[in-house]
Amino acid sequence: TQFGIKEVLQRLGISSENKGTSTGSHWLDSTGTYFESISPVDGTVIARVQATDAAGYEAVVSKAAEAYQTWRSMPAPQRGEIVRQIGNALREVKDDLGKLVSYEMGKSYQEGLGEVQEMIDICDFAVGLSRQLYGLTMHSERPGHRMYEQWHPLGIVGIISAFNFPVAVWSWNSMIAWVCGDVCIWKPSEKAPISGIACQHIIAKVFEANNLPEGLSGLIMGDYKIGELMTNDHRLPLISATGSVRMGKIVGQAVAARLGRSLLELGGNNAIIISEQADLDIAIRGALFGAVGTAGQRCTTTRRLIVQESVYDTVKERLKSAYAKLVIGNPLDEKNHVGPLIDTDAVKAYLNAIEKVKQEGGKELVAGGVLEGEGYESGCYVKPCIIEAENHYHMVQEETFAPILYLMKYKTLDEAIAIQNGVPQGLSSSIMTLNMREAEAFLSAAGSDCGIANVNIGTSGAEIGGAFGGEKETGGGRESGSDSWKAYMRRQTNTINYSDSLPLAQGIKFDI
Ligand code: NAD
Repeated sequence: TQFGIKEVLQRLGISSENKGTSTGSHWLDSTGTYFESISPVDGTVIARVQATDAAGYEAVVSKAAEAYQTWRSMPAPQRGEIVRQIGNALREVKDDLGKLVSYEMGKSYQEGLGEVQEMIDICDFAVGLSRQLYGLTMHSERPGHRMYEQWHPLGIVGIISAFNFPVAVWSWNSMIAWVCGDVCIWKPSEKAPISGIACQHIIAKVFEANNLPEGLSGLIMGDYKIGELMTNDHRLPLISATGSVRMGKIVGQAVAARLGRSLLELGGNNAIIISEQADLDIAIRGALFGAVGTAGQRCTTTRRLIVQESVYDTVKERLKSAYAKLVIGNPLDEKNHVGPLIDTDAVKAYLNAIEKVKQEGGKELVAGGVLEGEGYESGCYVKPCIIEAENHYHMVQEETFAPILYLMKYKTLDEAIAIQNGVPQGLSSSIMTLNMREAEAFLSAAGSDCGIANVNIGTSGAEIGGAFGGEKETGGGRESGSDSWKAYMRRQTNTINYSDSLPLAQGIKFDI
């Protein structure tokens, strides 16, 4: 196949039929049906994957529980050493895995490589973290007492991931969870299962080479029904789920019903405010990559552009001419800027959104549409479009996972911030301005209500060092850098009495 995909699959250990249930190196038999992973690049069936059945799920959970008994007592820096080796293993397969991600998901090869680089980066971050995982010490009010807190592992972490970052999101969770002493069970997206199988092969070799037990990394496959086995399972104290708001509402409630913890990374409706004091070269470039990069299939994709009225027409014209230069096609061909949507359902959702927003009064500035003909046989290639719209439109309030950019106008910064915040989601946001007062107002408590707020950078393309996630319907979870690791551990407060008496807190007297 094109761009050496066949050889890439071979090197990554992918067959035409793959078992989908694994405890690490072992792949389990299942009665589950086989489903296909179809590349949106050319419509080819990449391979078939067998769904996990109830017995397979049980086997994976019980192996995980067993492995946890050993793993939790291994010193964290030693767990970090394993993650360091995983980082090196990923470095070795970066080109192949990047290409597979690009072919299975449809993002550009450069972005596929970027996704694997992000995995490598999170490994490095987790290695350093393995010698930290700090608790605080505090002063006891009682003489001869010491108080401190420590962080212990939680247990089995269930990871449910979305199709658009088929491997990086798993690594954000698992690498951190592993150094924290947890074991993981991963259900990749049913739309990108092959990338998940490839990752399992890569890490299994590292675990095996270090004589570690089966069960540290469980893999299960299937749709929401398999996901529900995890969300309802009290043996999994934490469910980290990435995907749509619709999914998050169901998962969040199921986990809460058993008083488990959930870490939710859901949809965004991200905006860039372009002030009259912006560097327009940066603003246009940031908006363009934000809106059309990954064909609009990033949770941080720029969906709304809120432009000050005095520069509105200039921005509009410059965007129109930039869009005219976009080359749409096979994402493995580095000449192309925009690849396909994930599947034909996504194409339907894109067309439906354009239709609906036009019915509501939206004006198409750069027309959308589905591409046909040579190179577009998969039926998943669409034209990035720009629509002048108002923030209150029903479709503008929703995340459509496609390259549709809504353009709107503002007069004052307060108005712009109100528009930016005036959606149910709260993931990423940015302002383009060289004015310090505007930038700081945007970042202040009365500014952006999002988990990510940038100045003179677009909404997408976060680094792993910061905590990643968003507010409101985006779910409130934080992953990756900063102190996100705390979500994967339990905090224990310890008070030690080294005196020869037993004073009670708050000076309470209790003498017999
Ligand atoms: P999706 O919600 O359709 O599916 C995500 C995952 O959830 C899949 O693995 C799916 O099988 C599983 N799932 C669905 N229903 C479930 C249920 N009831 N119980 C358990 N599991 C269930 O999302 P998608 O189309 O794969 O991905 C796109 C969405 O993900 C977008 O909304 C995007 O914004 C979001 N996303 C968010 C982030 C973030 O960090 N905030 C990152 C990437 C993607």
